[in-house]
Amino acid sequence: MAVLEQLTSQQAIELENKYGSNTYHPLPVVLSKGEGVYVWDVDGKRYYDFLSAYSAVNQGHCHPKIINALIEQAKTITLTSRAFYNDKLGLYEKFTCEYFGFDKLLPMNSGAEAVEAALKVCRKWTYEVKGVPENEAKIIVCNNNFHGRTTTIVSFSSDSTSNKNFGPYSDGFICIEYDNLEQLEQVLKSNPNVGGFLVEPIQGEAGVYVPSEGFLAKAKALCEAYNVLFIADEIQTGIARTGKLLAVDHENVKPDILILGKALSGGAYPVSAVLANNNVMKVMTPGTHGSTFGGNPLAAAVAIAALEVVEDEQLAENAATLGEIFRSELNKYIKTSSVATLVRGKGLLNAVVINDTEDGDTAWKICLALRDNGLIAKPTHGNIIRFAPPLVMNKEQLLDCIDIITRTFKQFEE
Ligand SMILES: *Cc1c(COP(=O)(O)O)cnc(C)c1O
Repeated sequence: MAVLEQLTSQQAIELENKYGSNTYHPLPVVLSKGEGVYVWDVDGKRYYDFLSAYSAVNQGHCHPKIINALIEQAKTITLTSRAFYNDKLGLYEKFTCEYFGFDKLLPMNSGAEAVEAALKVCRKWTYEVKGVPENEAKIIVCNNNFHGRTTTIVSFSSDSTSNKNFGPYSDGFICIEYDNLEQLEQVLKSNPNVGGFLVEPIQGEAGVYVPSEGFLAKAKALCEAYNVLFIADEIQTGIARTGKLLAVDHENVKPDILILGKALSGGAYPVSAVLANNNVMKVMTPGTHGSTFGGNPLAAAVAIAALEVVEDEQLAENAATLGEIFRSELNKYIKTSSVATLVRGKGLLNAVVINDTEDGDTAWKICLALRDNGLIAKPTHGNIIRFAPPLVMNKEQLLDCIDIITRTFKQFEE
């Protein structure tokens, strides 16, 4: 079978099942093309994409400006390694630092790698600036967090599927309840060796949990009071997804360390970054961190284009406007529904809670029916469906999608 032969859905699924490590449980739909808010399967059927590759495709599939930057740079030079300078990295670092308001950027590839890099920056700062004794540094994390899949990161996951039998776990993390300021203060007060608080401004993977208003601002103030770095993992919530450039912008919080990934490339290439000011990033010196592909010129060119699209097309404003419509229309339906009980979220990062137990299969079945009706989405945790379309959607398309979603839910009403 030739690699470039056009497969049927069944063939593609069988190949993945037979030859791929079985780490995912995909919705059965085989995609072969994407443009803007749409994707197509191998039979040419069109769908609205309501996952956006976990918010990596905020700028829409195959955005022409991003793809053009990718192609032009790919024809010129793709990888130099950091053993030499290249003529794109510095431009990208300057552009991105100014864009988000930080002094310095540490370039990586995947989200998990950027989180790992941020943890290293934080620990080094904790010893070298805060003065905590060697090997005693602690970082506070939250229950039900999702920060990626590396061994250190899963060590402080509370999800047993993520970390069972991946021990022994890394030390140095203290887990508190999400959205609980008293616990945060308690831990800060009793642990002088804490150097950082790692938090998602909205817990996306956990099921789009939005913390109480004021939580982020008050948590940041507590971190300041105890000389602790506030580390925002905005890999999913950042880059216009929640209706502001960053989700922390809703509370005018400036993180000490900002972690970006996913939409930093608009889904065209793996690009992630850690941003911080000089007082923190100064601890990183030659040899203390690195990555062969991190900061490559292809990534740099793609990321600049991806961030320009966010500004040019005012994607944050659009996400804010459409998000309000999405939640208010869904709420009207939910009032009369026995299937959906709740919609929550910010901007175009939303979730609907399905009236079922956490291990029930109603949400999965609804996602299959949504697929049949031309819209693809996926349950996050059992009975929660996340709805996160590309931010280039227009109002007419959104209303069409709301119609599909409510019609599909109605198929499940008693
Ligand atoms: C997706 C995600 C990550 C991990 O990113 P990868 O690119 O999959 O490694 C980390 N944190 C958050 C909040 C995420 O949503």
